[in-house]
Amino acid sequence: MQKEGQIGVTTENIFPIIKKFLYSDHEIFLREIVSNAVDATQKLKTLASVGEYKGELGDLAVRVSVDKDAKTITVSDRGIGMTAEEVEKYINQIALSSANDFLDKYKDNVNAIIGHFGLGFYSAFMVSKKVEVVTKSHTDGAQAVKWTNDGTPQYTLEDVGKADRGTDIILYIDDDNTEFLEKSKIEQLLNKYCKFLPVPVVFGKKQEWKDGKYVDTDTDNVINDTQPLWTRKPADLKDEDYLKFYRELYPMGMEEPLFWIHLNVDYPFNLTGILYFPRIKSNLDLQRNKIQLYSNQVFVTDSVEGIVPEFLTLLHGVMDSPDIPLNVSRSYLQSDQNVKKISAHITKKVADKLEEIFKKDRTQYEEKWDSLSIFVQYGMLTEDKFYERAQKFCLLKNVDGKFFTLDEYKTLIEGAQKNKDGVLIYLYANDKEAQYPFIEAAKEKGYDVLLLNGQLDTHWIGLMEQKLEKTRFVRVDGDTADQLIQKAEEVKVTLSDKEKEALTDVIKPLLPTMDKTEFNIDFKALGEKGKPLQITQNEFSRRMREMASMQPGMAFYGEMPEMHQVVVNTDHLLVKQLVSDTGGKEKADLEKFSAENPKLKQIVDLALLSNGMLKGEALSNFIKRSIEMI
Ligand code: ADP
Repeated sequence: MQKEGQIGVTTENIFPIIKKFLYSDHEIFLREIVSNAVDATQKLKTLASVGEYKGELGDLAVRVSVDKDAKTITVSDRGIGMTAEEVEKYINQIALSSANDFLDKYKDNVNAIIGHFGLGFYSAFMVSKKVEVVTKSHTDGAQAVKWTNDGTPQYTLEDVGKADRGTDIILYIDDDNTEFLEKSKIEQLLNKYCKFLPVPVVFGKKQEWKDGKYVDTDTDNVINDTQPLWTRKPADLKDEDYLKFYRELYPMGMEEPLFWIHLNVDYPFNLTGILYFPRIKSNLDLQRNKIQLYSNQVFVTDSVEGIVPEFLTLLHGVMDSPDIPLNVSRSYLQSDQNVKKISAHITKKVADKLEEIFKKDRTQYEEKWDSLSIFVQYGMLTEDKFYERAQKFCLLKNVDGKFFTLDEYKTLIEGAQKNKDGVLIYLYANDKEAQYPFIEAAKEKGYDVLLLNGQLDTHWIGLMEQKLEKTRFVRVDGDTADQLIQKAEEVKVTLSDKEKEALTDVIKPLLPTMDKTEFNIDFKALGEKGKPLQITQNEFSRRMREMASMQPGMAFYGEMPEMHQVVVNTDHLLVKQLVSDTGGKEKADLEKFSAENPKLKQIVDLALLSNGMLKGEALSNFIKRSIEMI
């Protein structure tokens, strides 16, 4: 037989379109061709298993080879093969209707175009000037045929001799794509897209070091793991297997994961996979290793945003589902009902697992909490359903390293930490060292202080205040210990405006000038035992700044100065002394008083020191002055 004909494309010519629009992502041609070969092999295995194919199966490996001189890439399989009629039917007839409209609409999305038309095979033309298909059906007495096409709607189909059943796809790589003739490039692509295909894929021979160079051995170089861990039964697997697989997925990773979840769902949709909770050391780690999405063991993407819940993009691992419509655009994916169901299901599974570990081994859970908290908080912030579930296993850690569930903590502080209006105040520090004096002062009052120094804590605090009734979070340095939780109306300060002004005039010049930092002098009656002077940070403006630093578009708040309250305790003897010393003095005298009064300097410096704001020369002056005073 020898035949010429027109490919069934209703539009003028599909090839230039393929080349032009699909150019950006052209490497996927290899995935398409190799997975077709794998499919053909799987089909034959199925036929054999039901007794419809009775011949030998033999070696079923798919072989990929590159011939740099001939400028070809060949993908060969020993699968079902095709008869001439099947070639006509499957390769020639591409049902294209209103193709141009569609291509216009989706020109930025290769997967959408390829998926929409079932153009998997035709993606070969993204890199080839000519494609040959040499194929022989598995059916008895089949005649092998060769289909040739050079990128025009004309094809030729002719009978050829071929000993073995199966298909060879020969790509004649065009001059713009010679990079694909590099062995290393093909190796890289096979590794990316075909690493877990269910049929062995062979690329050349394994090599060994001999006489100062690498030489081929007799062993086939199988590039894939045909039975990746997620396809196996959890009951058959040990911890080592999961850890080993993790290293296989992320060879560059240094850290072991905290734990993992083996997903295995077959109703109402099909989903398998393994999700790992990584140990996060830095922001960099968050972006580096990503969840990989597979469809029947074919790699599709590692940008799963919009497919899995946002907070789970922080996890590592693999997911495999034939039910996720993979070859479509991202926006389509995000609105797909299946995808939504899968997403909700994964959220539930993750919550189940966290609750399970928490219940089963609280000590272990607590040990991992520092790494875990970011997932739990991110989940609570972004998924209502997860928030509900997380009530049970979201932990709070106090400055002494003790852990509490939300309920436990509420019970702990309910007695002592309600203010006069019945609002429950959660006190927290974010820097144990720097805020030490404040923490101690709060503890002395019988309060408990949380340690909230995680990346998401500021956002999370906002969420909790919104969700929990009559609850406020206050940082320990947000006010003086007496005022952190207002138990009664404030005691009125009895100083006159004139006296306040005089005190302000003598204290202000002693405060440091710091970039973007402002000091406000405030007067409070804090009792004789209270500190004479304290510096606190306004909770609201501080939080605004923190939020701004994390959110683009809020830079304005980031520019706001840091507001510090210098609280003068009008009940303290030293302050009373100051009031009488400064009474009736003129401006110039006050200035002199401020500059020449070591005791006053000492009081101010002590307050600064408690906040870690006394530095450099000021610090060394303070030390000298202290020694003199002794
Ligand atoms: P899809 O794989 O999505 O159906 P393709 O364009 O990739 O679309 O392939 C079209 C058809 O060509 C396949 O469905 C299959 O019937 C046939 N085909 C492609 N490659 C092979 C192969 N290596 N062996 C047997 N049949 C093949």
